[in-house]
Amino acid sequence: MSKLSIVIPCYNEQESIPLFYPVVEKVVKKMPVKVEYWFVNDGSVDNTLKKLRKLHQEHPEEVHYISFSRNFGKESGLYAGLEATTGDYVVVMDVDLQDPPEYLPEMYQIILSGEYDCVGMRRTDRTGEAKFKSFLSDKFYDVINKISDTKIVNGARDYRMMTRQMVNAVLSLKEYNRFSKGIFNWVGFKTKYLPYKNVQRVAGTTDWSTWKLFKYAIEGITDFSEVPLSIATWVGGVSAFLSIVGLIFVIVRRLMEPSSSAFGWASMVCIMLLLGGLQLMCIGIVGKYIGKIYMQTKNRPIYIVKEKR
Ligand code: UDP
Ligand code: MG
Repeated sequence: MSKLSIVIPCYNEQESIPLFYPVVEKVVKKMPVKVEYWFVNDGSVDNTLKKLRKLHQEHPEEVHYISFSRNFGKESGLYAGLEATTGDYVVVMDVDLQDPPEYLPEMYQIILSGEYDCVGMRRTDRTGEAKFKSFLSDKFYDVINKISDTKIVNGARDYRMMTRQMVNAVLSLKEYNRFSKGIFNWVGFKTKYLPYKNVQRVAGTTDWSTWKLFKYAIEGITDFSEVPLSIATWVGGVSAFLSIVGLIFVIVRRLMEPSSSAFGWASMVCIMLLLGGLQLMCIGIVGKYIGKIYMQTKNRPIYIVKEKR
Protein backbone atom coordinates (compact mmCIF):
# COMPACT_ATOMS: atom_id res chain seq x y z
CA MET A 1 0.00 0.00 0.00
CA SER A 2 1.29 3.46 -0.88
CA LYS A 3 1.96 6.00 1.80
CA LEU A 4 0.59 9.52 1.71
CA SER A 5 2.29 12.23 3.75
CA ILE A 6 0.44 15.42 4.59
CA VAL A 7 2.42 18.54 5.47
CA ILE A 8 0.55 21.24 7.39
CA PRO A 9 2.25 24.52 8.39
CA CYS A 10 0.57 26.07 11.45
CA TYR A 11 1.01 29.51 12.91
CA ASN A 12 -1.31 30.44 15.78
CA GLU A 13 -3.91 27.89 14.75
CA GLN A 14 -5.16 26.57 18.09
CA GLU A 15 -8.78 26.75 16.91
CA SER A 16 -8.24 25.24 13.48
CA ILE A 17 -6.19 22.17 14.40
CA PRO A 18 -8.96 20.28 16.27
CA LEU A 19 -11.35 21.03 13.38
CA PHE A 20 -8.87 20.10 10.66
CA TYR A 21 -7.88 16.62 11.77
CA PRO A 22 -11.28 14.86 11.86
CA VAL A 23 -12.36 16.36 8.53
CA VAL A 24 -9.22 15.24 6.72
CA GLU A 25 -9.15 11.89 8.50
CA LYS A 26 -12.69 11.20 7.30
CA VAL A 27 -11.63 11.73 3.70
CA VAL A 28 -8.33 9.85 3.73
CA LYS A 29 -9.84 6.87 5.57
CA LYS A 30 -11.72 6.06 2.38
CA MET A 31 -8.55 6.19 0.30
CA PRO A 32 -6.40 3.09 -0.26
CA VAL A 33 -3.35 4.64 1.42
CA LYS A 34 -1.43 4.68 4.66
CA VAL A 35 -1.33 8.24 5.96
CA GLU A 36 1.16 10.25 8.00
CA TYR A 37 0.67 13.85 9.11
CA TRP A 38 3.52 16.30 9.60
CA PHE A 39 2.29 19.40 11.36
CA VAL A 40 4.82 22.21 11.58
CA ASN A 41 4.40 24.64 14.45
CA ASP A 42 5.97 27.79 13.09
CA GLY A 43 6.75 29.50 16.40
CA SER A 44 3.11 30.06 17.39
CA VAL A 45 2.45 32.16 20.46
CA ASP A 46 -0.88 30.52 21.28
CA ASN A 47 -1.68 26.91 22.26
CA THR A 48 -0.91 25.41 18.85
CA LEU A 49 1.93 23.28 20.23
CA LYS A 50 -0.26 21.94 23.04
CA LYS A 51 -2.93 20.95 20.53
CA LEU A 52 -0.31 19.19 18.40
CA ARG A 53 1.13 17.33 21.40
CA LYS A 54 -2.34 16.16 22.31
CA LEU A 55 -3.09 15.04 18.75
CA HIS A 56 0.20 13.15 18.65
CA GLN A 57 -0.58 11.40 21.93
CA GLU A 58 -3.96 10.32 20.59
CA HIS A 59 -2.54 9.08 17.28
CA PRO A 60 1.16 8.41 17.85
CA GLU A 61 1.53 6.37 14.65
CA GLU A 62 0.07 8.82 12.17
CA VAL A 63 0.40 12.29 13.64
CA HIS A 64 3.82 13.90 13.95
CA TYR A 65 4.89 17.44 14.51
CA ILE A 66 7.91 19.67 14.25
CA SER A 67 8.05 22.74 16.41
CA PHE A 68 10.32 25.66 15.49
CA SER A 69 12.31 27.73 17.95
CA ARG A 70 10.60 30.87 16.58
CA ASN A 71 8.46 32.01 13.65
CA PHE A 72 10.38 31.30 10.45
CA GLY A 73 7.52 31.85 7.98
CA LYS A 74 5.32 29.47 6.04
CA GLU A 75 7.98 28.79 3.43
CA SER A 76 10.38 27.45 6.04
CA GLY A 77 7.54 25.43 7.56
CA LEU A 78 6.85 23.81 4.22
CA TYR A 79 10.51 22.95 3.76
CA ALA A 80 10.82 21.39 7.21
CA GLY A 81 7.63 19.40 6.69
CA LEU A 82 8.63 18.12 3.27
CA GLU A 83 12.03 17.12 4.61
CA ALA A 84 10.40 15.02 7.34
CA THR A 85 7.99 13.13 5.08
CA THR A 86 8.55 9.51 4.14
CA GLY A 87 5.52 8.92 1.91
CA ASP A 88 5.44 8.01 -1.77
CA TYR A 89 3.11 10.94 -2.31
CA VAL A 90 3.09 14.19 -0.41
CA VAL A 91 0.31 16.72 0.08
CA VAL A 92 0.85 20.27 1.27
CA MET A 93 -2.18 21.95 2.80
CA ASP A 94 -3.23 24.75 5.14
CA VAL A 95 -4.74 23.93 8.48
CA ASP A 96 -7.60 26.44 8.16
CA LEU A 97 -9.55 24.14 5.77
CA GLN A 98 -9.27 26.70 2.98
CA ASP A 99 -7.75 23.82 1.04
CA PRO A 100 -10.79 21.54 0.72
CA PRO A 101 -9.80 17.98 1.72
CA GLU A 102 -12.63 16.45 -0.31
CA TYR A 103 -10.45 16.85 -3.41
CA LEU A 104 -7.76 14.52 -2.05
CA PRO A 105 -9.20 11.31 -3.61
CA GLU A 106 -9.47 13.00 -7.00
CA MET A 107 -5.93 14.34 -6.76
CA TYR A 108 -4.72 10.91 -5.80
CA GLN A 109 -6.50 9.27 -8.74
CA ILE A 110 -4.92 11.72 -11.18
CA ILE A 111 -1.44 11.29 -9.79
CA LEU A 112 -1.81 7.48 -9.70
CA SER A 113 -2.62 7.47 -13.41
CA GLY A 114 1.06 8.34 -13.84
CA GLU A 115 0.43 11.11 -16.32
CA TYR A 116 1.14 13.92 -13.85
CA ASP A 117 3.79 14.42 -11.18
CA CYS A 118 1.79 17.00 -9.34
CA VAL A 119 -1.85 17.96 -8.90
CA GLY A 120 -2.47 21.47 -7.64
CA MET A 121 -5.57 23.42 -6.77
CA ARG A 122 -6.40 26.72 -8.38
CA ARG A 123 -9.13 28.94 -7.02
CA THR A 124 -11.30 30.50 -9.65
CA ASP A 125 -12.59 33.41 -7.59
CA ARG A 126 -11.55 35.49 -4.64
CA THR A 127 -14.84 35.99 -2.84
CA GLY A 128 -14.43 37.31 0.65
CA GLU A 129 -11.23 39.12 -0.23
CA ALA A 130 -10.86 42.90 -0.40
CA LYS A 131 -11.17 44.28 -3.97
CA PHE A 132 -7.88 46.16 -3.75
CA LYS A 133 -6.06 43.06 -2.55
CA SER A 134 -7.44 41.00 -5.45
CA PHE A 135 -6.49 43.73 -7.89
CA LEU A 136 -2.90 43.78 -6.59
CA SER A 137 -2.74 39.99 -6.74
CA ASP A 138 -3.84 39.96 -10.37
CA LYS A 139 -1.26 42.62 -11.23
CA PHE A 140 1.43 40.60 -9.46
CA TYR A 141 0.73 37.56 -11.65
CA ASP A 142 0.72 39.73 -14.78
CA VAL A 143 4.10 41.23 -13.91
CA ILE A 144 5.90 38.11 -12.76
CA ASN A 145 4.71 36.09 -15.73
CA LYS A 146 5.97 38.80 -18.09
CA ILE A 147 9.42 39.19 -16.61
CA SER A 148 10.25 35.74 -15.33
CA ASP A 149 10.82 32.45 -17.16
CA THR A 150 9.14 30.65 -14.27
CA LYS A 151 5.42 30.89 -14.95
CA ILE A 152 3.10 31.12 -11.97
CA VAL A 153 -0.54 30.21 -12.40
CA ASN A 154 -2.94 32.92 -11.16
CA GLY A 155 -4.95 31.65 -8.21
CA ALA A 156 -2.80 28.53 -7.73
CA ARG A 157 -2.49 27.74 -4.05
CA ASP A 158 0.25 25.88 -2.28
CA TYR A 159 -2.30 23.06 -1.83
CA ARG A 160 -0.93 20.25 -3.99
CA MET A 161 -0.08 16.57 -4.14
CA MET A 162 3.35 15.64 -5.42
CA THR A 163 5.29 12.48 -6.18
CA ARG A 164 8.34 11.65 -4.08
CA GLN A 165 10.51 12.50 -7.07
CA MET A 166 9.16 16.02 -7.26
CA VAL A 167 9.40 16.51 -3.49
CA ASN A 168 13.07 15.55 -3.63
CA ALA A 169 13.56 18.07 -6.41
CA VAL A 170 11.91 20.80 -4.32
CA LEU A 171 14.12 19.85 -1.36
CA SER A 172 17.23 20.06 -3.51
CA LEU A 173 16.65 23.82 -3.77
CA LYS A 174 18.22 24.91 -0.54
CA GLU A 175 17.95 28.64 -1.09
CA TYR A 176 17.39 30.81 1.94
CA ASN A 177 14.83 33.11 0.31
CA ARG A 178 12.10 30.64 -0.47
CA PHE A 179 9.20 31.56 -2.72
CA SER A 180 7.34 28.26 -2.92
CA LYS A 181 4.92 29.29 -5.66
CA GLY A 182 7.93 29.85 -7.89
CA ILE A 183 9.92 26.86 -6.66
CA PHE A 184 7.09 24.41 -7.38
CA ASN A 185 7.07 25.63 -10.97
CA TRP A 186 10.82 26.02 -11.34
CA VAL A 187 11.52 22.34 -10.62
CA GLY A 188 9.42 21.46 -13.65
CA PHE A 189 7.46 18.18 -13.80
CA LYS A 190 3.95 17.97 -15.10
CA THR A 191 1.31 19.69 -13.02
CA LYS A 192 -2.45 19.53 -13.43
CA TYR A 193 -4.52 22.26 -11.82
CA LEU A 194 -8.02 21.53 -10.57
CA PRO A 195 -10.25 24.60 -10.33
CA TYR A 196 -12.34 25.17 -7.21
CA LYS A 197 -14.35 27.90 -5.55
CA ASN A 198 -12.70 29.92 -2.81
CA VAL A 199 -13.44 28.80 0.76
CA GLN A 200 -13.24 30.98 3.88
CA ARG A 201 -11.03 29.88 6.76
CA VAL A 202 -12.83 27.91 9.50
CA ALA A 203 -11.34 29.73 12.48
CA GLY A 204 -8.70 32.25 13.43
CA THR A 205 -7.60 35.10 11.18
CA THR A 206 -5.24 35.37 8.27
CA ASP A 207 -1.85 36.77 8.95
CA TRP A 208 -1.49 38.28 5.50
CA SER A 209 -2.15 41.99 5.36
CA THR A 210 -2.07 43.75 2.00
CA TRP A 211 1.32 45.25 2.87
CA LYS A 212 2.74 41.83 3.81
CA LEU A 213 1.42 40.40 0.55
CA PHE A 214 2.99 43.28 -1.36
CA LYS A 215 6.38 42.61 0.21
CA TYR A 216 5.92 38.91 -0.53
CA ALA A 217 5.24 39.79 -4.18
CA ILE A 218 8.46 41.83 -4.37
CA GLU A 219 10.35 38.86 -2.92
CA GLY A 220 8.81 36.59 -5.54
CA ILE A 221 9.73 38.90 -8.38
CA THR A 222 13.31 39.43 -7.24
CA ASP A 223 13.75 35.70 -6.51
CA PHE A 224 12.69 34.65 -9.96
CA SER A 225 13.61 37.48 -12.31
CA GLU A 226 16.60 39.63 -13.07
CA VAL A 227 14.59 42.09 -15.11
CA PRO A 228 14.39 44.75 -12.34
CA LEU A 229 18.19 44.85 -12.41
CA SER A 230 18.16 46.03 -16.00
CA ILE A 231 15.86 48.95 -15.13
CA ALA A 232 19.01 50.94 -14.34
CA THR A 233 20.39 50.23 -17.79
CA TRP A 234 17.18 51.33 -19.49
CA VAL A 235 16.69 54.46 -17.39
CA GLY A 236 20.35 55.34 -17.93
CA GLY A 237 20.10 54.78 -21.68
CA VAL A 238 16.96 56.89 -22.06
CA SER A 239 18.30 59.78 -19.97
CA ALA A 240 21.62 59.70 -21.82
CA PHE A 241 19.71 60.00 -25.10
CA LEU A 242 17.56 62.85 -23.76
CA SER A 243 20.62 64.73 -22.51
CA ILE A 244 22.23 64.59 -25.94
CA VAL A 245 19.06 66.09 -27.42
CA GLY A 246 19.10 68.74 -24.66
CA LEU A 247 22.77 69.47 -25.23
CA ILE A 248 22.26 70.07 -28.93
CA PHE A 249 19.31 72.33 -28.12
CA VAL A 250 21.37 74.39 -25.65
CA ILE A 251 24.32 74.77 -28.02
CA VAL A 252 22.17 75.76 -30.96
CA ARG A 253 20.22 78.27 -28.88
CA ARG A 254 23.45 79.77 -27.50
CA LEU A 255 24.83 80.21 -31.01
CA MET A 256 21.65 81.74 -32.37
CA GLU A 257 20.80 83.90 -29.39
CA PRO A 258 23.92 84.60 -27.20
CA SER A 259 22.02 86.42 -24.44
CA SER A 260 19.81 83.40 -23.57
CA SER A 261 22.36 81.45 -21.48
CA ALA A 262 21.06 82.56 -18.08
CA PHE A 263 17.63 80.91 -18.60
CA GLY A 264 16.61 77.55 -17.35
CA TRP A 265 17.27 77.49 -13.61
CA ALA A 266 13.89 75.86 -12.86
CA SER A 267 14.26 73.19 -15.51
CA MET A 268 17.79 72.49 -14.25
CA VAL A 269 16.52 71.84 -10.72
CA CYS A 270 13.78 69.55 -12.03
CA ILE A 271 16.21 67.53 -14.10
CA MET A 272 18.65 67.19 -11.21
CA LEU A 273 15.97 66.05 -8.78
CA LEU A 274 14.52 63.62 -11.30
CA LEU A 275 17.86 62.06 -12.11
CA GLY A 276 18.86 61.92 -8.45
CA GLY A 277 15.63 60.11 -7.63
CA LEU A 278 16.01 57.65 -10.47
CA GLN A 279 19.58 56.93 -9.42
CA LEU A 280 18.55 56.24 -5.83
CA MET A 281 15.75 53.98 -7.04
CA CYS A 282 18.15 51.97 -9.20
CA ILE A 283 20.64 51.68 -6.35
CA GLY A 284 17.75 50.45 -4.20
CA ILE A 285 16.92 47.71 -6.70
CA VAL A 286 20.55 46.62 -6.89
CA GLY A 287 20.66 46.74 -3.10
CA LYS A 288 17.68 44.38 -2.90
CA TYR A 289 19.56 41.76 -4.87
CA ILE A 290 22.76 42.31 -2.90
CA GLY A 291 20.75 41.79 0.28
CA LYS A 292 19.61 38.46 -1.07
CA ILE A 293 23.17 37.46 -1.93
CA TYR A 294 24.23 38.54 1.56
CA MET A 295 21.60 36.40 3.28
CA GLN A 296 22.41 33.44 1.06
CA THR A 297 26.18 33.62 1.64
CA LYS A 298 25.66 33.51 5.39
CA ASN A 299 24.35 30.02 4.77
CA ARG A 300 22.00 30.09 7.70
CA PRO A 301 19.65 27.16 8.19
CA ILE A 302 16.14 27.56 6.76
CA TYR A 303 14.61 26.68 10.14
CA ILE A 304 15.59 25.61 13.66
CA VAL A 305 13.74 22.79 15.41
CA LYS A 306 13.00 22.88 19.10
CA GLU A 307 10.81 19.79 19.37
CA LYS A 308 10.03 16.95 16.99
CA ARG A 309 7.85 13.90 17.50
N1 UDP B 1 1.47 30.03 8.34
C1 UDP B 1 2.71 29.64 8.83
N2 UDP B 1 3.62 30.62 9.20
C2 UDP B 1 3.36 31.95 9.08
C3 UDP B 1 2.09 32.32 8.54
C4 UDP B 1 1.18 31.36 8.18
O1 UDP B 1 2.99 28.45 8.96
O2 UDP B 1 4.21 32.75 9.43
C5 UDP B 1 0.47 28.99 7.96
C6 UDP B 1 -0.92 29.17 8.53
O3 UDP B 1 -1.04 28.58 9.80
C7 UDP B 1 -1.80 28.46 7.50
C8 UDP B 1 -1.05 28.71 6.21
O4 UDP B 1 0.29 29.04 6.56
O5 UDP B 1 -1.90 27.07 7.73
C9 UDP B 1 -1.68 29.80 5.37
O6 UDP B 1 -1.85 30.97 6.15
P1 UDP B 1 -3.14 31.88 6.05
O7 UDP B 1 -4.36 31.04 6.13
O8 UDP B 1 -2.96 32.95 7.08
O9 UDP B 1 -2.97 32.50 4.61
P2 UDP B 1 -4.06 32.61 3.43
O10 UDP B 1 -4.82 31.31 3.40
O11 UDP B 1 -4.90 33.76 3.79
O12 UDP B 1 -3.23 32.80 2.20
MG1 MG C 1 -5.78 30.42 4.86
